[in-house]
Amino acid sequence: MIRTNPKHGVRADDRNAVTSHVFLALGSNLNDPVAQIRQAIQALASSINAIECAPLYQSKPLGPQDQPDFVNTVISGYTHLNPDALLTALQGIERQQQRVKTQHWGPRTIDIDILFYDDLRLDTPQLTIPHQELFNRSFVTIPLFDLIPDGIMPTGDQLDRNRYDSSTLVRIDT
Ligand code: ADP
Ligand code: MG
Repeated sequence: MIRTNPKHGVRADDRNAVTSHVFLALGSNLNDPVAQIRQAIQALASSINAIECAPLYQSKPLGPQDQPDFVNTVISGYTHLNPDALLTALQGIERQQQRVKTQHWGPRTIDIDILFYDDLRLDTPQLTIPHQELFNRSFVTIPLFDLIPDGIMPTGDQLDRNRYDSSTLVRIDT
């Protein structure tokens, strides 16, 4: 069986044979955020297998402060979708949960971002993977450490636990 790069040019007849290990960040601060995150994970289960979910954390909003606290988590799993198709699936779930864009960094019912897609590095107008900005945010890295305690990311890079302040996050017992 000849395979092209499984991340980009998968031949149609090979598509079902390829699965990729993905990590996604989820956040919500409207309309019962815990329920929003649970609902999104349930919807993700149709395109992502063997989902592992970090605990949920509550955090103060970035940017405008006149909005509710956020609930954030990170999940990992395996998918047959290529990165573009995965982004489309995530946006479909965001639409399903009536995410309405108001302001940059403003309130949202659900935001789902791709952190890693195997060890892929991608920089297109639609997609940057890994999503570098997210690694400056403890509400992403702290739940990520719950899934990868040694901090070794799928890219092979080491995430430095000392860079992140977990004191701003409150773990939610669900
Ligand atoms: P944000 O997540 O920055 O708050 P949005 O969810 O509205 O904002 O995303 C804006 C755009 O970011 C999306 O239309 C998408 O094309 C792009 N994007 C770039 N890289 C990623 C990524 N790794 N995961 C999800 N979206 C991404
Ligand atoms: Mg997003």
